[in-house]
Amino acid sequence: MSAANAQEPSFRDSVDIMFNRAATMLDLPPGMIEKIRVANSTYTVRFGVKLRGEIKTFVGYRSVHSEHMEPVKGGIRYADNVNQNEVEALAALMTYKCALVDVPYGGSKGGLCINPADWEVDELERITRRFASELIKRDLINPAQNVPAPDMGTGEREMAWIADTYKRIHTNDINARACVTGKPRNVGGIAGRTEATGRGVQFALQEFFRHPDDVKAASLDGTLKGKRVVVQGLGNVGYHAAKFLSEEDGCVIVGVGERGGAIVNESGINIEDLKQHMIAVGAVQGFGGGTYVEDNGSVLELDCDILIPAAMEGAIHLGNAERIKAPLIVEAANGPVTAGADEILRTKGCVIIPDMYANAGGVTVSYFEWVKNLSHIRFGRMQRRQEEAFHETLIGGIEEITNKPFPPDAKAKYMEGADELKLVRSGLDDTMRLAYQQMSKVWNARKHEGVDLRTAAYLISIEKVASSYATLGL
Ligand code: NAD
Repeated sequence: MSAANAQEPSFRDSVDIMFNRAATMLDLPPGMIEKIRVANSTYTVRFGVKLRGEIKTFVGYRSVHSEHMEPVKGGIRYADNVNQNEVEALAALMTYKCALVDVPYGGSKGGLCINPADWEVDELERITRRFASELIKRDLINPAQNVPAPDMGTGEREMAWIADTYKRIHTNDINARACVTGKPRNVGGIAGRTEATGRGVQFALQEFFRHPDDVKAASLDGTLKGKRVVVQGLGNVGYHAAKFLSEEDGCVIVGVGERGGAIVNESGINIEDLKQHMIAVGAVQGFGGGTYVEDNGSVLELDCDILIPAAMEGAIHLGNAERIKAPLIVEAANGPVTAGADEILRTKGCVIIPDMYANAGGVTVSYFEWVKNLSHIRFGRMQRRQEEAFHETLIGGIEEITNKPFPPDAKAKYMEGADELKLVRSGLDDTMRLAYQQMSKVWNARKHEGVDLRTAAYLISIEKVASSYATLGL
């Protein structure tokens, strides 16, 4: 995190400041705001693993922010700067995110202080399995109570190890696979989970551009086609978002910031080529499809239409907020704009599509995966061929009545029943559209009170959490 100002609030404080801004606009029973704001519990574990001839001690966390709905849900992050404050801030964001997009979970988050690059794969597996068993024996991983997912530094490989560790401890739990999401397909994962957060960013932007007044508020016009985009972080979220926006919506990716440098190219960066280069070389340096810039932070300040910080929290802070030129920021990462920077950007008229909405695609598809695991059947398996047969009958009837053949392209498209990937994308698109429509409505109705999209998102989610608590008798 590059925030370099002594007045910069911590990530945890930033989330609380943004929460408080909205909470004070709501008429809630006394004490309810405090109940929702605080983390219910945070468990710290220090465990040893014998590696390279000595016992290495690791520190991990699992924070439960709110259990107004169970299970609670939230990723596990591997990074050497993971700390309790960060995990609690991320857990709080999970509560608000799930409420906003109507995913029936409370909020949680986990983290392990580790740089995955320091360890061999078999060592990482032993560390992950030990961390998982520490959490499993306290029900901090459990299909009915607490369900992790990938986050920065983890992916489907780690989720498979966690699922297997749970299964070995709970040998007769028929729902064992639902103890974690983001798994590989062959152990209960779902089509479209790996791409889900980036895909959700794409769907969020598509929906934003269906609201011309909102687009105008960001001093933009038209559609996504031709919009100049800068992305920070070409990991899971940034890569998929940049790939889909450039390959499917006609956006031009003019800058990509990564660890160790950035690539800029006014005519557009080929994201797949850059990703393949990064996989082969381990860095963006030496990529032929653009100009290399050593100062990776400088891309955030490039002249562009849409800025997508997709790496880590605190990327836009008091030290650089004034110099940000993008009129529209999409927070693909969690907490990429500090509370101080948020105020500067709002004053400048910049529109921010907030993290709790923009990156909700991951938890949405995780929810689909969890439902799939509990129902023990892949989506589409029962009805796909039946739908195809029904469509075939209908087309046959139309052709018979009109005595004309159905246009071949339309026929092929209409005849194809939905497989799991299509259903997942459809469910995600629907979720992102509906959540944006709710936010936009509140934003436009309460602009005169200083409500922006972020405050609108908080207003909606705090009200939903408060009404769950009220129903529970609190
Ligand atoms: P990741 O580890 O796959 O990717 C992060 C990328 O950022 C890496 O390529 C890394 O090299 C790069 N990076 C790190 N520091 C950087 C810096 N200083 N400048 C530029 N690039 C830098 O992680 P991810 O899963 O893509 O997560 C990214 C963000 O999105 C995190 O804030 C995470 O909490 C959030 N998020 C992820 C998911 C998910 O499904 N993976 C879901 C919701 C939110």
